[in-house]
Amino acid sequence: TYVIGEPCIDVVDRACVEECPVDCIYEGSRALYIHPDECVDCGACEPVCPVEAIYYEDDLPEKWQLFTEDNARFFAEP
Ligand code: SF4
Repeated sequence: TYVIGEPCIDVVDRACVEECPVDCIYEGSRALYIHPDECVDCGACEPVCPVEAIYYEDDLPEKWQLFTEDNARFFAEP
């Protein structure tokens, strides 16, 4: 899955939402989140992000590792 990291917070540009062929990028209160089970790893969202917030999970910078969990938690049942 692809993961959206810290740069998205309070930016929420939504360019990625337009690109995603399976509509798996959802909007939270302060950032966008990629549904880890719905993402098909096509990579279309990554280059269009103006703040370079999107990474393939294995390429996510160490300092943003929490965001992998954060993206998953966003979709977890309460
Ligand atoms: Fe959507 Fe493709 Fe980005 Fe996954 S990698 S979130 S399927 S655009």
